[in-house]
Amino acid sequence: MSGTELSPAASPGGTEPAGTPVTVRALVARGSGAELRVEQVRLPAPGPGEVRVTIRAAGVCHSDLSMVNGTLAARFPLVLGHEATGVVAAVGPGSRLAVGTPVVLNWAPACRACWWCRRGEPWLCAATTAPTVPRGETDDGVPLHLTLGLGALAEAVVVPERAVIPIPAGLPPEQAALLGCAVLTGVGAVRNTARVAPGESVAVVGLGGVGLALISAARRAGATTILAIDVAEAKRDLALAAGATDFLLSDDRLSKEVRARTESRGVDHAFECVGRAATIRAAWRLTRRGGAVTVVGMGAKDDMVSLGALDIFHSARTLRSSVYGSSDPDREVPVLAAELAEGALDLRVLVSGTISLEEAPTAFDRLARGEGARWVVTLD
Ligand SMILES: [Zn+2]
Ligand SMILES: [Zn+2]
Repeated sequence: MSGTELSPAASPGGTEPAGTPVTVRALVARGSGAELRVEQVRLPAPGPGEVRVTIRAAGVCHSDLSMVNGTLAARFPLVLGHEATGVVAAVGPGSRLAVGTPVVLNWAPACRACWWCRRGEPWLCAATTAPTVPRGETDDGVPLHLTLGLGALAEAVVVPERAVIPIPAGLPPEQAALLGCAVLTGVGAVRNTARVAPGESVAVVGLGGVGLALISAARRAGATTILAIDVAEAKRDLALAAGATDFLLSDDRLSKEVRARTESRGVDHAFECVGRAATIRAAWRLTRRGGAVTVVGMGAKDDMVSLGALDIFHSARTLRSSVYGSSDPDREVPVLAAELAEGALDLRVLVSGTISLEEAPTAFDRLARGEGARWVVTLD
C-alpha cells in the first residue's frame, strides 16, 4: 500500500473516473480453518491499466472453500470469491473501459504474450498461476491477499482491466455472476475439452455448480444419455432439472447401473467435478474402452491417483484435465452472455438462492455439506 489517505466520503458505488482508494466490506478468512467474517478492507485507487468494479453479485464456489479448508495453499488474510459480475466504477490512467460498463470477472486473465497465449491456449497462461495475489490491506493495516487475484466476495474489487469482460446490460446479476466460473468451466469442458458430439453418452461425477452447468451443456451438445452421479440423494431433482437423463447414487452398485444404461460398455465421456483421487478413479471405471475422462475438479497436490499399468494400456482411455473449460474467457463469456440474454441459456436451476454478504459464511457451510447448487451473494 502507498499509504494514500482515504477519503471518508469515498464510496464503492462512486463513479469518479480517476479513482481514489476506497474502504469496502469484504468476506475475509484470517487463516486456514478460521471463522469467516465480513470486514472493512482498503483497496488502492486503480493504477495504470486497472479498474475498480462495484460488485453486484458473486457466487460461492468450491474453490473458495478449498482456499479456507487447506486443500489449496492460500495466503492470509484472504478476501474470498472469484465468480462475480458488477459495473466498472472507476478506471486508472489509460484504461479503454468506460465507467458504467457491466462486466464479468475473469480469474485467469491472459497476458497474450507468453508461449501458451501465443499458441491459443490462454487458459494455461504462464502469468496466472498464483492462487492468491497480494493487494490492499485490512482495516488494521495488515497486507491483504485476494482469491485468484479477484477477492470478489466484496462490495468492490480493484483488478487489471484484462480481468474484466464487458457484457450486455440488463442480465440477471445472480445468473451473470456464474458465467465467470461455474458456467464457463462446465460449458467449456463439454464444448472445448471433451467436444461431446450428438448421440454420445456422458457421466458427470459431482453435482455442484460446475457439474450441473456441465449437464445442461451436455444436453445442449446433443448427448442422449446423461448420467448424473453424486453421493447426495438431495441432488436428484436438481440434476434432472438441469437436463440429466438419470440420477445415480455413488455407491457400490454404480458401475453396474452405468453399464446397464450404456449397453454394457461404459460412457463415452466421464467428467469428474470433485477433485479427489477416489472420484477420478470412479470416473475412469465408468468410461468405455477408448473413451475419455475429463477432470474438472481441482484437488489437493498430495491426493495421489493410482491406475493399473495394464488397465491404462488395455482400456485405451484418455485421462485429461479441463482448466477453466479450456476456454478463452474474453471470447466465450460474451457468447454465453448473449445466450443468457436470448434465453438460450437458462441458469435459474444453478442458483439455489441469493443471500447477503453477511450470510455468505452459511453458504460455505452448505457447500461443505453438499447442499444445493450455487449460493449467490447479491449487493446493491
Ligand atoms: Zn470457481
Ligand atoms: Zn500468457
